[in-house]
Amino acid sequence: MQTQMLIDGSWRDGTAERIEVLDPATGEAIADVAAGTPADAVAACDAAETAQRKWAAAAPRERSEILRACYEILLEHSFEIAELITREHGKPLNDAAGELAYSAEFFRWNAEEAVRVHGSLGVAPAGDKRIIVRHPPVGVVAMVTPWNFPAAMIARKVAPALAAGNAVVIKPARDTPLTALRVAQLLEEAGVPSGLVNVVPTRSSGAWFDAVSDHRAVRMVSFTGSTEVGRMLLQRCAQRVLKVGMELGGNAPFIVFADADMGAAVAGAVTAKMRHSAEVCTAANRFFVEAPVVEEFTQRFAEAMGAIRVGNGFDPGVTCGPMINAGAVTNIETLVQGALSNGARKVNGGGPVEGPGFFYEPTVLADVDVSSPITSQEIFGPVAPVIAFNDTETMIAAANDTEMGLIGYVYTEDLAKGLRVSERIEAGMVGINRGAISDPAAPFGGMKQSGLGREGASEGIYEFCETQYIAADW
Ligand code: NAD
Repeated sequence: MQTQMLIDGSWRDGTAERIEVLDPATGEAIADVAAGTPADAVAACDAAETAQRKWAAAAPRERSEILRACYEILLEHSFEIAELITREHGKPLNDAAGELAYSAEFFRWNAEEAVRVHGSLGVAPAGDKRIIVRHPPVGVVAMVTPWNFPAAMIARKVAPALAAGNAVVIKPARDTPLTALRVAQLLEEAGVPSGLVNVVPTRSSGAWFDAVSDHRAVRMVSFTGSTEVGRMLLQRCAQRVLKVGMELGGNAPFIVFADADMGAAVAGAVTAKMRHSAEVCTAANRFFVEAPVVEEFTQRFAEAMGAIRVGNGFDPGVTCGPMINAGAVTNIETLVQGALSNGARKVNGGGPVEGPGFFYEPTVLADVDVSSPITSQEIFGPVAPVIAFNDTETMIAAANDTEMGLIGYVYTEDLAKGLRVSERIEAGMVGINRGAISDPAAPFGGMKQSGLGREGASEGIYEFCETQYIAADW
């Protein structure tokens, strides 16, 4: 297990105060990890600055082949990394393996994109000059990532950043630094030059971020996490007018029309709610179900949720692991109690589970009042509030009545209706008759306060590029 931090290709210990990592399934400590100071973060930025110059000058094909080697090494170690994800995050081993496959795919996709960063050449309308447009790398990118996808949220940023010719300094989440350190170690083994990928965990995120965002070489911040923290980092980035990529919180509506294939809608609802133990930004947060089928949907959904086995992610058959920490269980329970006191009813008997570990049983709530906090806040846990609707217009207005706009889901057998409704959902992504939509080849990201920019697809790499225009005569 790698517990030191990575700066300029060397593994370092950091201060005497270390970061304790818990197994959320038991609440017991499994490791302690080096905690970097602001000075360590600056050293990482210095190293990144030097490494980036050489990397940017390398042939795109050379970068591409190293990224391809990263893809292969991650797959070769997929079982080991999946185990590490389950150990520190708690998600079921199958979900962890899925996360790792998704992470590796970003390296394959961006190995392919590295040789296709194209600019353009045009003639000015007045005919007096040529307009040359090129896309050089940004430089050094600071990355701050959440605990819910310890590998994927790093891969989704690092792969396109390296493909475009940048260097990176990463601050992984305090709850899950082990996967980040192991992935970085494997990237170095795959041939990523020293200093290009630096990982500096810390106990003091604010001071770390101040030091990094003030560093002269850092030109971009790529953040994934809550909207609340994203807003603070945006303010801080304004001081040096840094380029930003922001992947923030969600509050996804999951819409079921009466003409939906009910079996598919229930299966999709379970997927959209429960993947990765329901701790996902794309998790369905509000289930709007057309009145004629609300009773049937709710009963079948509650049966499916009630049949989910909750437990240690290593146990076969478990499909819902622990929540990340005790605070997460308390937050979920507060939201559920708020909904119940507003008139909601529990359809199956879920709730918090006594320790050890931080568990919450899958729960379906019916008759939820749209004014309950559970419909405006991210639940980030296995609870599904169901709201009946009669009128499509009113439902769409309610679905859009949130500052978030990450994703929505629509279930209907009428594709034209599905498309019409999708176009009116104020979200960066919509799934029609699908409960999971993430794909490295598709642009992932949110509208409104769910984010700025996109990760993945062919536009993903351009997020880590500048645009330069050269006016030329010849
Ligand atoms: P969080 O915002 O609490 O933390 C995210 C990261 O920011 C962590 O590394 C944390 O240590 C760091 N951080 C916190 N305060 C900071 C500060 N003052 N300065 C610098 N860094 C700071 O989020 P979380 O609890 O780790 O993750 C859950 C959230 O992430 C949810 O809101 C979820 O929707 C969101 N998320 C979004 C996406 C997406 O792609 N849109 C993906 C995954 C998670």
